[in-house]
Amino acid sequence: MLSNIRIVLVQTYHPGNIGASARAMKTMGLNDLVLVNPRCFPDPEASQLAAGAEEVIDNARVVGTLAEAVADCVQVVGASARLRSLPLPHYDEPEAMGRELVDTAITDPVALVFGRERFGLTSDEIRCCSHQVSIPANPDYGILNLSQAVQVLCYETYKAWRLRPEQATDRLPPVEERQPTREQLSHFHAHLSRVMQVSGFLTQPHAQTEARLQALFARAQPSRKELSLLRGLLRSLEESATHKKS
Ligand code: SAH
Repeated sequence: MLSNIRIVLVQTYHPGNIGASARAMKTMGLNDLVLVNPRCFPDPEASQLAAGAEEVIDNARVVGTLAEAVADCVQVVGASARLRSLPLPHYDEPEAMGRELVDTAITDPVALVFGRERFGLTSDEIRCCSHQVSIPANPDYGILNLSQAVQVLCYETYKAWRLRPEQATDRLPPVEERQPTREQLSHFHAHLSRVMQVSGFLTQPHAQTEARLQALFARAQPSRKELSLLRGLLRSLEESATHKKS
């Protein structure tokens, strides 16, 4: 279950933060680290601060984009000290996040995503997430060091796993009732924006409308079966719009 929980660090500036995050992960039983475009990696400072968690660093995968890092995940929680304009489902309490993440990780990969030291996650990166979480902190000084934020959220995840009721593992949902992966969802949104254009609803791509619809579907949390129903509907609308035009 914990092996399905991935920690993703986006464009980390200080290699020491990567090492300290690896250590934080290992203390909480997590091993799967993915680095999106780190400034400097591998680096001796990262290994030094990992202090005993070098294997987490050695096995870390480096990828070019956040979408790539989380393509196979069904739940992606972006950690952010600030609320953004996109109304994604938001955990005000990391404890609640830990419970849901652990429940989902019984069957599917999930990810916890952390932003850059200087400016966190971009709006496009937040859009790759299904949820956001904030660590409640001093309103006048509430931004934690990156690796300390990793520590707090990994602790909540480990705690949720440790305290999980035994009987909770009894019934595993069938695959069609489970949530779609981020990749399946992004194919759906690409299809939706195609249909909005062939139908004449939009005359050209409109980022704000697309972002709003993405947020709407993020809140609705469709299952794989519901998503394939929506894909069927889009296919049929696409066909009839194309026939009308020809
Ligand atoms: N200056 C950045 C914050 C960088 S801190 C900003 O204003 O967004 C680096 C990362 O640590 C953040 O992107 C976030 O993922 C995590 N982090 C720091 N404090 C946090 C908090 N209170 N709650 C949730 N995540 C936090």
